[in-house]
Amino acid sequence: MDCIFCKIIKGEIPSKKVYEDELVYAFNDINPMAPVHVLIIPKQHISSVNEVTPENSAVISRIYEVAAKLASELGIAESGYRIVSNTGADSGQTVFHLHFHLLGGTKLRFEMC
Ligand code: 5GP
Ligand code: ZN
Repeated sequence: MDCIFCKIIKGEIPSKKVYEDELVYAFNDINPMAPVHVLIIPKQHISSVNEVTPENSAVISRIYEVAAKLASELGIAESGYRIVSNTGADSGQTVFHLHFHLLGGTKLRFEMC
């Protein structure tokens, strides 16, 4: 499978890792949209939220635990942050390996569309 995030997890493509455990990998986005822009991803290949099931959803709670830990470590827990997971064409999803953007460190604009 030709998935760029699977290759990042395997170390075949370099990344700036900020966290890793047996379920989750987190790294800095290559094109940051905010002072803090981390991508948190499951190690298992799941294409998008559409493919989350009772069998694989334990990783979602782990991702939110990691988000809280990283927000604290990166100094944005109190100032605030946003977690975004784009799904499908209308959202602008470009990488079809489930990922959660952790964004903060500045006043974030909110644009619904
Ligand atoms: P999406 O648009 O699918 O929600 O977000 C994909 C994100 O992955 C984008 O913010 C993009 O900058 C990031 N990205 C794409 N390729 C790479 C890469 O090779 N390395 C890193 N660190 N981020 C990437
Ligand atoms: Zn993948």
